[in-house]
Amino acid sequence: MALLQPSVANVLSSRFVTAGSHLRTLFLHPPSYDGFDGGAGSRYQARREIRSFWYPTWLAQAAALVPRSRLVDAPPEGLSLADVLPLAREYELAILHTSTPSFPYDVKVAEALKEANPDLRIGFVGAHVSVQSEPSLQASPAIDFVARSEFDLTVEEVARGGPLRAVAGLSYRDNGATVHTPDRPPLENMDALPFVVDVYRRDLTVEHYAIGYLLHPYLSLYTGRGCRSQCTFCLWPQTVGGHRYRARSPEHVTEEIRLATRYFPQVKEYFFDDDTFTDDLVRAEAIARGLGRLGVTWSCNAKANVPPETLKVLRDNGLRLLVVGYESGNQQVLNNIKKGIRLDLARRFTREAKRLGIKIHGAFVMGLPGETRETIEETIRFALEIEPDTIQASMAAPYPGTALYREALANGWLTDTRLVDRRGAQVSALSYPHLSDSEIFRSVEEFYRRFYFRPRKLFAMVAEMVGDHRLLRRRLGEGAQFLRFLSRRRQS
Ligand code: SF4
Repeated sequence: MALLQPSVANVLSSRFVTAGSHLRTLFLHPPSYDGFDGGAGSRYQARREIRSFWYPTWLAQAAALVPRSRLVDAPPEGLSLADVLPLAREYELAILHTSTPSFPYDVKVAEALKEANPDLRIGFVGAHVSVQSEPSLQASPAIDFVARSEFDLTVEEVARGGPLRAVAGLSYRDNGATVHTPDRPPLENMDALPFVVDVYRRDLTVEHYAIGYLLHPYLSLYTGRGCRSQCTFCLWPQTVGGHRYRARSPEHVTEEIRLATRYFPQVKEYFFDDDTFTDDLVRAEAIARGLGRLGVTWSCNAKANVPPETLKVLRDNGLRLLVVGYESGNQQVLNNIKKGIRLDLARRFTREAKRLGIKIHGAFVMGLPGETRETIEETIRFALEIEPDTIQASMAAPYPGTALYREALANGWLTDTRLVDRRGAQVSALSYPHLSDSEIFRSVEEFYRRFYFRPRKLFAMVAEMVGDHRLLRRRLGEGAQFLRFLSRRRQS
């Protein structure tokens, strides 16, 4: 399979949009745990502390390539297996996005679809099956193939209905043996991909997507794929996206947002869910200027190393909030996971961002290699010191395909390969001789409690809600969910 060249971008786009010979194709994020945020845009798939959903952007991107397709995102729509089952007879091809925690459920959905329509061809996509294609196929005869790595173009070719052997990037069964076609090279010309907002408009309800720290309704998409950093725990760059940032042109991004503002005038904020939107500062500034001309509010993922000059350009052009992966307040733990960030620089970056009035959602991970009771305390103190507006504390999740997973296996740290409990909430899958999984589990609650349940923070949250009844209602609902979450955690 030849690499896509920039010169064929327009040819590709028009071919994808106008071709009429594709199989009737269903793109499905299957039902699994109640409230499971495991769509193709989720970074660690679980049921969250507060009901939250990322957009199924990866599935939408593939759906945009296949005419007459449909995208069904079951969890945010509240759809059960009984709800999606009738779809089996309406389609010839079904593409199911799966993840490590939801895989057993997704297999059951595939089997039920196949039983309802034995002629339905079923393919699985996602990081989990990408790195474990053979065992995934062996899990059930209902799975006809796995599309590995970046699956957009692979799925589009399968949807043409030709033989699987002719499609790069596939694994499938043939007479009992597993066949792997050659790997598909990463897509270089990202502008060749059609916009996802057309699929969002056709198939999704934007009001159903909510993230606690983003304005509601929000809309997220990618402006590029891959991350230059090498963090050992991070799922997408090690399994699907790779370590080069392959990005769309600023004009292409601005044009899609312009279209989105027409389709969704109710959207209050756009989120660029690239692994690290600020990996290319010049491009980030160019996109910001385009967004500034549109007058939209937007937010993105960033590493804690963006220089003040760039922060100012982004802020002046509508940037509201940065999601920053600090991960730990201990330098040795950061070094162990190859984060490539120094704590003193992270402190300086945070001061600058706050001085500019940019809000920060800080992401921290408990139980990474090298974690001790002392480093947990350092991380909590670090968060209290730099004071992001909101935080997220998760537990290290050793996903298959990551360096952390291999390290955990080699050292006997792995205690739970499902990564979630029976309700879909995250568990600590790692346990160290000096720090047990239950200590890591409990540290999350301690972190939240010490960060949020203090007068200064509570006062800031109340101040934010004063005079805004909608926000007040939303925050009260989220607060109640959060307390229930903590209570259920304690019981478990
Ligand atoms: S910088 Fe963020 S997105 Fe990039 S590899 Fe590290 S954790 Fe993953």
